[in-house]
Amino acid sequence: MPKCRDIPEVASAYIDGEMPISGRLAVAGHLTICRECRTYVQGLRTTRHLVATSFRAEVPATVAAALGLTDEDPQPLGKDRRR
Ligand SMILES: [Zn+2]
Repeated sequence: MPKCRDIPEVASAYIDGEMPISGRLAVAGHLTICRECRTYVQGLRTTRHLVATSFRAEVPATVAAALGLTDEDPQPLGKDRRR
């Protein structure tokens, strides 16, 4: 079972599900008995969620459109482009 000092090192992989099942079970077991590490992992999860959602919200519509990130169909290609 991992020790407290091991948790910060594996927390991201644990949250992302990028660990073998045996590693996940070991971390989950530690989190069950250790409130400090449970708080740490929950805080990291919350921080990552906030970062992800704030980036999504702060892209101006004109930039999103220029990058093709909107649902709107841009100028149809092929039409009116005959030579
Ligand atoms: Zn711990």
